[in-house]
Amino acid sequence: MDMIIKNGTIVNASGTIKADVGIKDGKVVCISDSISDSECENIIDASGKLVLPGAIDAHTHLAMPFGGTVSSDDYFAGTRAAACGGTTTVFDFALQDFGEKMTDTVKRRDALCAPVAAVDYSFHVAVKDVENGLIDGIGECVEIGVPSFKVFMVYDFGVTDGVFFQVLQKAKEVGALIEVHAENNELVNMLTKKYLSEGKTSAWYHYMSRPEFVEGEADERAIQWAKASGAPLYIVHLANKQGVEAVTKAKDEGYEIYAETCPQYLEFTSEVYKREDGRNFVCSPPMKGKESQDAIWEAIRRGDIDTIATDHCPFQSTEKDWGKDDFTKIPNGCAGIENMYPYMLSAANEGRISFEKAVALCSANPAKIFGCKTKGAIAVGKDADIVIYDPTIDFTITNEKMHSDCDHTIWEGVKVHGYPVQTYCRGKLVYDNGEFVGEKGYGKFVKCSLK
Ligand SMILES: [Zn+2]
Repeated sequence: MDMIIKNGTIVNASGTIKADVGIKDGKVVCISDSISDSECENIIDASGKLVLPGAIDAHTHLAMPFGGTVSSDDYFAGTRAAACGGTTTVFDFALQDFGEKMTDTVKRRDALCAPVAAVDYSFHVAVKDVENGLIDGIGECVEIGVPSFKVFMVYDFGVTDGVFFQVLQKAKEVGALIEVHAENNELVNMLTKKYLSEGKTSAWYHYMSRPEFVEGEADERAIQWAKASGAPLYIVHLANKQGVEAVTKAKDEGYEIYAETCPQYLEFTSEVYKREDGRNFVCSPPMKGKESQDAIWEAIRRGDIDTIATDHCPFQSTEKDWGKDDFTKIPNGCAGIENMYPYMLSAANEGRISFEKAVALCSANPAKIFGCKTKGAIAVGKDADIVIYDPTIDFTITNEKMHSDCDHTIWEGVKVHGYPVQTYCRGKLVYDNGEFVGEKGYGKFVKCSLK
């Protein structure tokens, strides 16, 4: 064995046990009450600590062109920050260009990511163009280990309901999973125009132009197309009560509908847009009111929210400032990649959810839903993606302690109880007590399969 983690408490989504973990060649090879020290010299004492599977952030936008700039974390900075927050796999969105074959989209982004990724990674293809046979890219990507695709119902590259439906049908045919960013584009455009014409330009009107019903209606419509096509559907960054209710209903009816939410919707409400620094919180969909936030927490406890992911897409303060006097000029997105697991584990530490639930939401469920078979649990045969977590540490998030390239964070000042002390990615130490100790380019592409 290369390493033994001793005396810790292993928490998987399926349960908690006190046991030692033996690791060899980057894999978990043994879990037992007590592994003898004679097995190897490299012994990590995890007494009093939790031993958790690394988190999987299924929603990141690293080096993402948006709003006239590019998100401030490239594939190195983003995966470095991920490692330091206990996340050992990220799924980044590879945004198809018009006219581009989807397999080329994956290759183009992989060429950027592979040389620098500090933790493991995979992609979802964000589909823009299905004309002229490009729809066949869905099946081709499934073959190369990228079986998940996202469509946007908003932005200038959003798809029509017709294209969305076509993509769902194709996914059903080839065994792919479609994800959707659900907001009603026409209402967003109309409300935005209206507020701008009335001189209402502060960050608050970002929220007012994308209120609860704008997202809720689109969630219902998206679920409707999934039902009609018979394809499974994954709703990304669900942030409103109406959408939660629609998901619950569809699940109860037996449809394969998955829902993801993000930590920012669990911590903040739309009130943040009234703050002086409100523009820093601008992301889409925006944070909603307290009623929606409560509904999301309840859905988490009920099991109707399947995953937590970050939608990590930070922009520098100077870029956020472009929208000081016009909310439409604020690049959409916030940092979160380093905060997700500590935040959800802290919620567990405080008793809002169980630790098993936090692990399910942040690791086991995304592994299962996206067909990432070597990850999502501490179990013999799985990758040794392991977080050693000290539940007694009190940690106040501040940008100085973060490992992103962004110059600020919406999480500034938020207190969490408990914090990762070490992160291992395939048996390699990548984070150690506040420091990134990983390696540029260590991260590997994870082939996924839904079969
Ligand atoms: Zn996103």
